[in-house]
Amino acid sequence: MLDTLFRAPRVITAVGESARSVGIRDGRIVAIEPLEAQLEARQTVELGEDVVLMPGLVDTHVHINEPGRTEWEGFASATRAAAAGGVTTLIDMPLNSIPPTTTVEGLQAKRKAAEGAVYVDTGFWGGAVPGNLEDLRPLHDAGVFGFKCFLLHSGVDEFQPLSSAELEQYLAVLHDFGALMIVHAENSQAIDRAPAPEGDRYGHFLASRPRGAENMAVAEVIEAARYTRARTHILHLSSSDALPMLASAKRDGVPITAETCPHYLSFTSEAIPDGATQFKCCPPIRETANRELLWEGLREGVIDCVVTDHSPCTPELKRFDIGDFGVAWGGISSVQLGLRAVWSQARVHGFTLTDVVEWMAVRTAGLAGLTRKGRIALGHDADLVVFAPDEATVVSAGDLEHRHPITPYDGMALAGVVRETWLAGELLDLQAPPRGRLLRRGDV
Ligand SMILES: [Zn+2]
Repeated sequence: MLDTLFRAPRVITAVGESARSVGIRDGRIVAIEPLEAQLEARQTVELGEDVVLMPGLVDTHVHINEPGRTEWEGFASATRAAAAGGVTTLIDMPLNSIPPTTTVEGLQAKRKAAEGAVYVDTGFWGGAVPGNLEDLRPLHDAGVFGFKCFLLHSGVDEFQPLSSAELEQYLAVLHDFGALMIVHAENSQAIDRAPAPEGDRYGHFLASRPRGAENMAVAEVIEAARYTRARTHILHLSSSDALPMLASAKRDGVPITAETCPHYLSFTSEAIPDGATQFKCCPPIRETANRELLWEGLREGVIDCVVTDHSPCTPELKRFDIGDFGVAWGGISSVQLGLRAVWSQARVHGFTLTDVVEWMAVRTAGLAGLTRKGRIALGHDADLVVFAPDEATVVSAGDLEHRHPITPYDGMALAGVVRETWLAGELLDLQAPPRGRLLRRGDV
């Protein structure tokens, strides 16, 4: 006897989209059968042709900022937004909270703040910063999914960047226990030498974060990975110039992967209005031609996955009063919109929803080593989304679940509506108490 049976003409599994009956027991997927299969369940959900049953997304790049900067974003609000956007698992970044997740104590502070507050399953990245080499193994053993480092100032003083020498030293240590390093790849010296990002002109801000700074840093990470053999991952790739290098490294067998974000795939620098600091992020949104090459990078598999890099702050820090890109905090709020933003662009670029699931669920789960997440497959957690891909609605920032009503998608028509999100075999109800779990590496 199943707990729940979905009968759906459109289900995304490893073989693409097909009609299936999907059976759930004890929070796991235990049956995937033809649509007409004889299966008994306490509850049957009949879906129509207008919706697709797909795995819940796994967003491995989310900044929640609690504790310490909870006024920017918190566990409850961020995970409500995730649930509403079809994300059922997220992994929180180790910085912008205070303390940062660079010690086991920092991780415990995170877990304490998150306990009982998360609407979706939530894991944690550790941080790799100067002076915490001895903390990496204990953090790994305590269940972080890998380690994030910066190669230039992170924006917050309590999370310092690694030097080139430290990067190699840390990678060598991580290689010893098979841990992953995820890297914010912009070269510090190249950024320092670029023009300062003052004023309200987006073009000035773009010039302050040149592609060359990203390209140099990506090259450095590739060679460090080649030398140390440590698993490395390039975060939020924006410069399409770096794609041939990454393709070449992958051909050589360098253990490196890369992600990009919905905003780099959606927006173009030419269309960003002056003073619109809700579009400010680092690395920056670049030109139309660059965006199209990122789509080609996804098509060719050079870019592995797509994550939101949801990174909010208070409205005051966005400095809408002066619209100055030099002083506004960088970061884009989008955890609730990533699926719809990517789907809106993917469909016009000739991709299917199965491709989107591959980038935003299957491969992100693989990146973090989440073996029971990101797929509709036997034995996997029954984290599911009922998605209406052909509906469209206009985004209203004030209606979003995250803490502050700021997002560059405000007013934009996006394809797709998340009708329902299911977590561990149960429909998620945002009016009910949160029942997401805190995840440890190896448990899922
Ligand atoms: Zn980030």
